[in-house]
Amino acid sequence: MARQILVVEDEALIADAIAARLRSEGYEVRVASDGPSGVSYAQRFEPDLVILDLMLPGLDGLEVCRQIQRERHVPVLMLTARDDETDLVIGLAVGADDYLTKPFSMRELVARVQALLRRLDALAGRTQPKAMHLDDDIEIDLDARRVRQRGEVVHLTPTEFDLLVGLAERPGRVLTRERLLVDVWGYRDGSGARTVDSHVRALRRKLGDGVVRTVHGVGYALGESGAAEVPEAGDPADGPEATGPDPDADAEAADAP
Ligand code: CA
Repeated sequence: MARQILVVEDEALIADAIAARLRSEGYEVRVASDGPSGVSYAQRFEPDLVILDLMLPGLDGLEVCRQIQRERHVPVLMLTARDDETDLVIGLAVGADDYLTKPFSMRELVARVQALLRRLDALAGRTQPKAMHLDDDIEIDLDARRVRQRGEVVHLTPTEFDLLVGLAERPGRVLTRERLLVDVWGYRDGSGARTVDSHVRALRRKLGDGVVRTVHGVGYALGESGAAEVPEAGDPADGPEATGPDPDADAEAADAP
């Protein structure tokens, strides 16, 4: 799953450099260029981590940090312009998890980001479920990376497993191919959308056609939802190898699901 990082930085050159480097590392990055939009992006997109400049127009980094931490805990890496600013911020104990003084190398930034996310994962590991259940008859063992269907082990490739977990983590939610590409494969551009289709077909072949729903014109989903679904004769959920106009029955089909 691609982790989402919010960068709040008013200096466009620095923001762009950070965003480009983090994207090349597989992260999904959004950039806000002032304090108020930093707060609203943090609320709207619920990033896994925030990189936050101290001196910002609108609201300074301290206030932004305070406001985004009020909603929920999210790791914050604070950027400061000078060592004495860093000392000041640490002294104020504003809730930032780490600090970097400008200028810093992108290598160092990435190392700090990875360390913060590892710490977050370690904390989450204590409370996260070790297994997921779909429709009672499919069990996903997250530690062993093994899937059982009615007690029988189903052999999935690592990518098929990640795709199944990516869908299962948000039951009922319709995920676009682009969203799945970012989450499961870490791609930024949509050029590999057919990759998603072929792996969905593999999952259906192994687990049954009804496991992954096609939501026409939108994407794929697991579990019940109804809202966005437009059932039709060619829907793969209706039966194997549907003969109707099924947009994702064929990798050569260029249209979206
Ligand atoms: Ca600044």
